[in-house]
Amino acid sequence: MDFLQPPYGLFAPDVDLVVNLPALGKLREKFPSYIFRAEKAQAMARKFAINHILPRSLETDKKCSQDPTYFDWDLWHAANRAKFTVACLPEKLGGLGWSALDNAAALEEFTSACMASTANFVFNVFGLLGSMVECKTGIVLDMVKKMAKAQQEDKPLFYSWAITEPGAGTDMEDACAMQTMRPSCHAQRVPGGYSLSGVKCFITNGSMAHYVIVNMPTDQERPLETMATFHVPTNAKGFFVGRVERKCGQKASQTAEIFFDKVFVPEKEMWEPPGKGFDHTREILSITRGLVGISAMGIARGALERCIRYAANKKTANGRLIDQDWVRFAIADMLKDLHMVRAAGYNFAIALDTFHVWKIFDTAVVKGATLLPGKILMADSLAALANNQLANEAGTRFKKKIVTNEVLDSFVKHGSALKAAGSDLAMKVSSRVLDIVGLDGMAREFGMEKCFRDAKVTQIYEGSNQANLWDFFHEEVGRLV
Ligand SMILES: Cc1cc2nc3c(=O)[nH]c(=O)nc-3n(C[C@H](O)[C@H](O)[C@H](O)COP(=O)(O)OP(=O)(O)OC[C@H]3O[C@@H](n4cnc5c(N)ncnc54)[C@H](O)[C@@H]3O)c2cc1C
Repeated sequence: MDFLQPPYGLFAPDVDLVVNLPALGKLREKFPSYIFRAEKAQAMARKFAINHILPRSLETDKKCSQDPTYFDWDLWHAANRAKFTVACLPEKLGGLGWSALDNAAALEEFTSACMASTANFVFNVFGLLGSMVECKTGIVLDMVKKMAKAQQEDKPLFYSWAITEPGAGTDMEDACAMQTMRPSCHAQRVPGGYSLSGVKCFITNGSMAHYVIVNMPTDQERPLETMATFHVPTNAKGFFVGRVERKCGQKASQTAEIFFDKVFVPEKEMWEPPGKGFDHTREILSITRGLVGISAMGIARGALERCIRYAANKKTANGRLIDQDWVRFAIADMLKDLHMVRAAGYNFAIALDTFHVWKIFDTAVVKGATLLPGKILMADSLAALANNQLANEAGTRFKKKIVTNEVLDSFVKHGSALKAAGSDLAMKVSSRVLDIVGLDGMAREFGMEKCFRDAKVTQIYEGSNQANLWDFFHEEVGRLV
């Protein structure tokens, strides 16, 4: 298409990570491979976005409007073959060994082409992150092996993370609200484990998932004190999928209702005992909210790039649309905001590498372990060792020393601010470009109205922006007043 031609943004001839964030240049002096790898991730993701995501995103969006259960398997297989489904795993274990900075650089590229398509191959990280909260060696190794095997065999392996239920979205993410809310889901103690009942709704990949990580209380009258986290295979008796939602945006990413009708979960699949489930949610949110902010910033960039290309090609009575002063000021104003949120996003990613779970990959223990031959790492004998109680406890202690409560509080604060800033930016920019472009902006083929619809969703999921601002206020100011 004509309007895609100018070599800008996704079509820029070179990687531009350091150009866009000059401060990374200083970091490159000290840690050349850290920045070099992020540039490599950016280049890989950009190529994939141009060759695979962009050419099909509008058609997929259209197909999903007609049938919300349509899934673009060709794109998923291409992403899987490129190892984007296991990007966080160390290279020795079959992944790409991506740092959080690498992930941020790639996310921006992917989501500037299409947020929903990206969700289909990156949101699986919920499984790995969920397993790393307690960091029991047996559970983490099992998760890693399953992910690596599925990738190698080019078979899908989807994880969902289910906290929202009808009547309780924000409440399930907020400790204060949880003191008065009454969830409808319930985990009942039975011999050998728990029996789960209830409905969760708006669950990303709920219709595709092979495993669901789900939060339910053992006492609905005391949800905060009794919330537990379970790991449930979706072929378990009593689990079934309900409606796949028809959404305004991000249509290519399926969102579904899931039902639990007395689903038996053995004791060993309880990832967090009663009373610890809310902490589990909070720890995952401390990472994913920031990543949603970065993804939403990518949507804003995509909308802006489409607008710039359009305005550079559009002839008006007074020359090209981009030659109008008001258009130039509007674009400059949006670019200014984009650069500010991008800086905050990459700051967050580097902080994840420095203080949060990604730091674990950089410790002598994990680096030393990955020096072992891949065969040994994947061997059943190592799995047996990892499943030993002492090893599990050591894993938990090791992880809690790195990701302390102070670290978590800080990431909830910064992640919530970034989530709200990124998604507000996406909404503002994708709306403003439609003002600039006018009627053509309403046409599907230019992709801008899709950016607008996709952006709106980012303000709502991973906690509404109001809930994120509430958390931000509480962490930044609330303790003082
Ligand atoms: C595309 C999509 C994908 C999703 N994926 C998942 C998923 O994978 N897993 C999952 O568990 N959930 C998922 N969700 C659900 C999502 O996290 C919730 O929609 C979100 O948390 C908001 O909850 P709610 O919709 O129930 O709104 P409500 O909680 O009903 O909130 C409605 C309004 O009231 C405000 N409000 C509510 N309570 C408070 C309060 N205490 N203080 C201040 N304001 C308040 C909110 O800010 C909002 O404006 C997804 C949602 C969407 C749209």
